[in-house]
Amino acid sequence: MANAPKVDAALKATFGTSFTDKIAITHYRNGAWEPFTIQPYGPIQLEPSAHVLHYASTCFEGLKAHRHDDGSVHIFRLDRHMQRLHDSAGLLCLPQPDPRFVSEGIKNLIRECVDWVPEQPGALYIRPTLFGTLASIGAAASPSSEACLYILLSPVGDYFETGLKPLKILIDDDRMRTAPHFGSAKTGGNYASALGQIQRAKQKYGVQQVLFAPDGDVQETGAANFLLISDHEILTKKLDNSFLHGVTRDSILELGRDLGYKISEREIGVTEVLEWARYGEAALSGTAAVLAGIGSFVYNDEVILCNNGEIGPNTLKLRQALIDIHGGKSPDNHHWLTRAC
Ligand SMILES: *Cc1c(COP(=O)(O)O)cnc(C)c1O
Repeated sequence: MANAPKVDAALKATFGTSFTDKIAITHYRNGAWEPFTIQPYGPIQLEPSAHVLHYASTCFEGLKAHRHDDGSVHIFRLDRHMQRLHDSAGLLCLPQPDPRFVSEGIKNLIRECVDWVPEQPGALYIRPTLFGTLASIGAAASPSSEACLYILLSPVGDYFETGLKPLKILIDDDRMRTAPHFGSAKTGGNYASALGQIQRAKQKYGVQQVLFAPDGDVQETGAANFLLISDHEILTKKLDNSFLHGVTRDSILELGRDLGYKISEREIGVTEVLEWARYGEAALSGTAAVLAGIGSFVYNDEVILCNNGEIGPNTLKLRQALIDIHGGKSPDNHHWLTRAC
């Protein structure tokens, strides 16, 4: 089947700049969420004194829906993402939306926008966004008692349309991405915190991202989790509050286990990463790119090749295994898909 012309136009746009013509929106007032309403995509009104604009009371999610060959549309690990939104809201002292409430809001909006869901390898990227709207600049040390939550949908094409290219990553063992107690919140503040370092690294070293490893503790990059992969093992940092608990990370570990890899979750040092790079593979995981292979690291002004500068076969195999589940090409044994329509 072919995409509708408006979908093809959206897929040509830069990732994250083109949206469906409708959003779902709800407000938290007087201690309760109102029902979601569906309205045209467009500017929203906000008081200049809104809590979020001054005290950064905001968090978001990023997940995808995939069209299968029979035309049906399936959301990948909806429950996990809704639980994480709930947890992020808790860390930001925002009203915590019931995961089922937001799930229903997403499913209803997708049904309204079903003709925007691209054929594979495209997908519909889903971006629930929550923020504090209390009109008070005096509430610096108190939570926003009012909030807004909306769901934004964006048709996206193949993230690697121009082909898979190995990534070049700077290892920074000096600075943190964000505050250690806040790394597991999916919040714009953490991105703002890392942005300056990523910009400097891009300019100085021509890298795409920074792997944050404060005091040698290898954590993650600005927007993706970090995995070391070999023919028989997948190694990644054990979950703690310092980094974002990626759903893709978890899915790759589950699929790796199914495929017979040994799964190791523990602390990783910079020396171990550089040693591993000589014989093994390294990759970044996240919803947008799924699993992206690393071809080289920059550390102490030196370039160190990873897997001879190429994306490794194990990385490609794991990536494909996950994509096949997204697209309904292999059985959904872990019950990760929720049918929207
Ligand atoms: C969203 C995000 C990830 C990846 O999470 P997924 O659930 O796999 O998409 C990793 N790191 C950060 C900082 C993130 O914000």
